[in-house]
Amino acid sequence: MHQRQMLLDWLGAEGQRRLRDAHALVVGCGALGGVIIEWLARAGVGQLTLVDRDVVEPSNLHRQVLFTERDAREGVPKAEAAARRVREIASGVRVHACVEHLGLGNASELARGAGVIVDGLDNIETRLVLNDLAVRDGTPYIYAAAVAMQGRSMAIMPDGACLRCVFPEQAQPGALETCDTAGVLGPVVGLTASFAALQALRVLAGRADLLDRGLWSADLVVNRFASLRVPRDVGCPCCGVRQFSFLQAVGDRAANLCGRGAVQVLPPGGVRATISLPALAERLRAHGVFEMRGDRLQGELATCNADGEAYELTVFADGRAIVGRCTDRDAARSVYDRFIGG
Ligand SMILES: [Zn+2]
Repeated sequence: MHQRQMLLDWLGAEGQRRLRDAHALVVGCGALGGVIIEWLARAGVGQLTLVDRDVVEPSNLHRQVLFTERDAREGVPKAEAAARRVREIASGVRVHACVEHLGLGNASELARGAGVIVDGLDNIETRLVLNDLAVRDGTPYIYAAAVAMQGRSMAIMPDGACLRCVFPEQAQPGALETCDTAGVLGPVVGLTASFAALQALRVLAGRADLLDRGLWSADLVVNRFASLRVPRDVGCPCCGVRQFSFLQAVGDRAANLCGRGAVQVLPPGGVRATISLPALAERLRAHGVFEMRGDRLQGELATCNADGEAYELTVFADGRAIVGRCTDRDAARSVYDRFIGG
């Protein structure tokens, strides 16, 4: 099955054997994750752990290659739909589906024995959790992100810069575009995910010497590719000082407000931030009806909860938000990451 790729002199029979004995943890099974998972499975990576708490929706299908209309109709969890597809593609792969949020409670267990952690995520907060986990345990982490016509990837290795060296000022909520506000196109995600999958295969095949060690970026508006070497920051709170605040804070960020049917969500990492509410109001116009009321932006999203009721959303200038008609903390966090960003 793998003869053609074994002809590559950097891989060969020895590299293929290493892939067969390898375990990859892929967090996020959507657009990025789907392409990454498919390449790793087809390349013969022996064991895959797939993590995603979300379910397949019709709006996913234009870019999430592992899923079908049937998955969307039935609302199948993405991790389970992805695992089923992997078994169809390559029955020899041991695949484990995990329909959960990655957090302090399960991260170490899921990453156990993984030779690489690959990023199929859609928000910076969980990426910083992965970054903390990878640096803490010395596991290579392949960062990947795509939005609108831009893609980025970087191999976070134990001897190099980490994601917090690259983004020292953790992105302020509302400052970053998300796929829900800026849009996204399948081939742009696919290109980025394919690059990330190649980087992961190099790590797993024992050829980390061949990695692109820079911050790789693709700007498909002007068709420009770049790889920028990022130096390690000795004062970096994560890889320098070794404080893993995102890994520790995860789970504390969303809290149910008693008797209100609402969940309060803090900005990524649980830290206060300053956000521009007028700018956020402008971006939310396409997604619901909002107005400024005193020091807060308040309104109703066009997106509905599991009972078909529209979510209410109140955002304060310090980045705190209250998601109304919601008691599910994971769902509230997801609303925050999609519409406020983080
Ligand atoms: Zn760092």
